[in-house]
Amino acid sequence: MELSERQQKIVEIVKEKGPITGEKIAELLALTRATLRPDLTVLTMSGYLDARPRVGYYYTGKTGGQLFKDKLLKLKVKDFQSIPVVIPEAASVYDAIVSMFLEDVGTLFVTDGRNKLVGIVSRKDLLRASMGKQDLEGIPVSIIMTRMPNVTVCYPDETMLETANKLISKQIDGLPVVKQDADGKLDVIGRLTKTNITKAFVELSREDG
Ligand code: ADP
Repeated sequence: MELSERQQKIVEIVKEKGPITGEKIAELLALTRATLRPDLTVLTMSGYLDARPRVGYYYTGKTGGQLFKDKLLKLKVKDFQSIPVVIPEAASVYDAIVSMFLEDVGTLFVTDGRNKLVGIVSRKDLLRASMGKQDLEGIPVSIIMTRMPNVTVCYPDETMLETANKLISKQIDGLPVVKQDADGKLDVIGRLTKTNITKAFVELSREDG
């Protein structure tokens, strides 16, 4: 976040003289307390300053970079995840292609009879399986999918930064968001893709705080 000239002055004053009351800052800048109020709100909400009742404002010592990282680490999977698209392992390659078009997704999660995650199928998996084949309805997705335990997953409380790192290091487009059951099996509760990371990125730029 770019600070305005006046906000930078306030930070300098608080750095030098804090803890200091709002009235005193206003006096030093020859402004009214009311004029200053929005700036002080912005500076406390963005983490540059902190305020203690009856003591006043003080400087937190955090740089712009640290504040940005604090904000980034607050973005969690559960706040950005999409609805998962799941197909049963007995579904055919043909069914998977139809689901991919109908649901407009690039990755399908494959589950067993108890709705537990067993694999994942991507666009390229389906293209590869379809090349030169006539009977796509006769090939089950279970034989072409990337299967457990090789599926990379994420959890609702993970940070978006952690999932972005997984997508980059594994060179994949999406992750199932999962919850582990008592037997250690995974229930699919969401979908986290590069699109969700892009949305989080845009949100970061929108926030004033
Ligand atoms: P695309 O095929 O559209 O390029 P990806 O890059 O996501 O999509 O997939 C590349 C390969 O990685 C595929 O073989 C796919 O099965 C596999 N894959 C995709 N997502 C995951 C995941 N979360 N964990 C493990 N493997 C995955």
